[in-house]
Amino acid sequence: MTSELLDALLADDTASEQHLVTHRRELHAAPELAFKEVETAEYIAERLDALSVDRLEAGVGGTGVVADIKGERPGHSVLVRADMDGLPIQEAGDLAFRSARRGVMHACGHDVHMAIALELARALAENRDRFPGMVRFAFQPAEECAGGARPMIEAGVLTGIDRVIGLHVWSELPLGKVSVRPDVVMASADQFTLTVRGKGGHGAQPHQTVDAVVIAAQVVGALQTLVSRETAPASPVVITLGSLHGGTAANIVAGEVAIQGTLRTLDRELRAHLLGRIAELAAGTAAAMRGGCEFRHESAAPPVVNDPGMATIVAEAARGVVGAAGVVAFEPLKVGEDFAYFLDARPGCFFLLGGAPEGARVGHHTAEFRIDERCLPIGFRVMTAAVLRLLQEN
Ligand SMILES: [Zn+2]
Ligand SMILES: [Zn+2]
Repeated sequence: MTSELLDALLADDTASEQHLVTHRRELHAAPELAFKEVETAEYIAERLDALSVDRLEAGVGGTGVVADIKGERPGHSVLVRADMDGLPIQEAGDLAFRSARRGVMHACGHDVHMAIALELARALAENRDRFPGMVRFAFQPAEECAGGARPMIEAGVLTGIDRVIGLHVWSELPLGKVSVRPDVVMASADQFTLTVRGKGGHGAQPHQTVDAVVIAAQVVGALQTLVSRETAPASPVVITLGSLHGGTAANIVAGEVAIQGTLRTLDRELRAHLLGRIAELAAGTAAAMRGGCEFRHESAAPPVVNDPGMATIVAEAARGVVGAAGVVAFEPLKVGEDFAYFLDARPGCFFLLGGAPEGARVGHHTAEFRIDERCLPIGFRVMTAAVLRLLQEN
């Protein structure tokens, strides 16, 4: 029954491909930054409205858009999440549909995710007398600053939902491949600021000051030992202190220095432990040097961890589309993804869609970012097959 239904949903191949490409290109040309996805949300809501979905709500958790499509029989309730935001990057290259907005670009592929979700919504809406359960689409703002998932969940987007699914196109995974992991998919991503406080003064009278620059230098060195001396060699951890600002002139002792950093781990407990230790070690180091240090946790996403049972269902569905050799388990990525919040709340699966363009390797979050558009129909088919199975299988 699943395969008949799948055939029905995938029946109109040419039309589907056209919708996917059109949506993706129109969205690519008009990117918006996190929490400013106003026109993007309108674009999506208009298209969902045209499908006469069972429920449509805009402005969820900021600029989020939510739509329900109900089947005709009882079944599982599956949430499909697509993120909507672009990045503050000026697009390079000369694509005909390149970003028309200066300094803003879909440089992570969220345009691809939205196009696939919209096309799945159309296929389901046209076949709603044939599938069980309910599918809820959550078009989420602000994935890039890990700020959009939580407000949507707090607004109740998971109420009545028992399974969740999402995907990310990946420019370093070959076209035709899909990565489904039974466990951790992406690292946690925490951003923090350490404010080191001393006492400013004359550069020639250091004994009358507490030099925040010297304390900051010790803090930077000390934090590296959390990786080298306090974490097991088999556990990948990254602590990067990417920004350090303090002081005003060569002959003035700085009274304050701000250090900004990020922590990445693949493990929930290790992440909590290290966040505590960063604050403790920085404060202890500063105290030992007569200063102080305040830790501010600015944004956070836990690691993205799939449910093994859900991952098995999705991998089976993917094999039906790309064949056994097409389904791989790509190494866990050290980038963060706030789909983690959905997976912390409900069993589900987040998979990677191979979208590597021909030619040179391109990275996400770069002005040169590109994907091979032929991944669109593949992603649509895998997502459709996976959602149908999640609706029906125990
Ligand atoms: Zn990104
Ligand atoms: Zn992304």
